[in-house]
Amino acid sequence: MPHVETLSIRGRLQSLQRQWRYHDPMRLTPFSCHTRFPQALHRRRWLLGLAALSLSPVARATEPAPEQHGWPRPRPVPGGVARIDLGPAEFRPLALQGDTPLLVLGQSNGWHAWVGIALSAEPGSYQIDCQLPGGAKRTVPYTVEPHRYPEQHLRVEPRTVELSPEDLARHQREQAHQRQVTQRISEAPPDWLWNPVALRMSVPVKGRLSSPFGARRVFNGQARQPHSGIDIAAPQGTAVTAALDGEVVDTGNYFFNGLTVWLDHGAGLLSMMCHLSRISVQPGDRLLSGQPVGAVGATGRATGPHLHWGVMLNRQMVDPTLFLAV
Ligand SMILES: [Zn+2]
Repeated sequence: MPHVETLSIRGRLQSLQRQWRYHDPMRLTPFSCHTRFPQALHRRRWLLGLAALSLSPVARATEPAPEQHGWPRPRPVPGGVARIDLGPAEFRPLALQGDTPLLVLGQSNGWHAWVGIALSAEPGSYQIDCQLPGGAKRTVPYTVEPHRYPEQHLRVEPRTVELSPEDLARHQREQAHQRQVTQRISEAPPDWLWNPVALRMSVPVKGRLSSPFGARRVFNGQARQPHSGIDIAAPQGTAVTAALDGEVVDTGNYFFNGLTVWLDHGAGLLSMMCHLSRISVQPGDRLLSGQPVGAVGATGRATGPHLHWGVMLNRQMVDPTLFLAV
């Protein structure tokens, strides 16, 4: 069982306040030694920033291109990512969706929260909580827009659609394990704050997109959960690589996902690679983007050799293509 770090809100606040107090970016993460921290503003500008933050309205309707703000590309739909303007502030604000800490990036002249939106979310109005150290909590609204994903019909082994009691019990155990793995919210690598391309991912395997994200799936005529990642068809044995720097936090052989590797990239951003024919890493390994994790296979519920690649942000599976260069 890998180490799973789940910070309470109070623990998270204390941790952030310690970092703010010491301004020591190396405390944030061992991922990178290239660090640059936003220059501290003097007190007047900080107070102006606080005032602006408290007045700052809603997520901006018009979003700039990724070249201007980096990755991911915002797409506020179910299974997408919302970019929420938090305004300027001297220190990085804490943002929460319910109890879940959110990815917050930017510098003192402007911060943004990035919210992974559940595929099951209904379109409509939502809000996050935002708080500065010692400051009052305030809410910031955002809107989830409607989006209709395509339907996909697949033929698979009947035993992977109508589960036997033994397979159902195994799947339920594995689901509980995966929930535990994906509770993890670690610190953001500090270079994410200043490097606009820090979160741009590389495709883990070259191949043909065989099933898009969000597809409403019908297996052997029966509707099942929508597709929470993308499928890339590639020959058996093709190397699969890390999409972004990260730490291996789980490996295993699961009923639906087959041989699987989970990577933690930091700040609630995780990725999973499934149906592998072999795994060449183990929990605790730290990988750079492009380093191998295993090879393409067809283990678990698969119609042929392919990679299922999933990306999770604040515990929601989101569209991996939002993290890729267009
Ligand atoms: Zn898939």
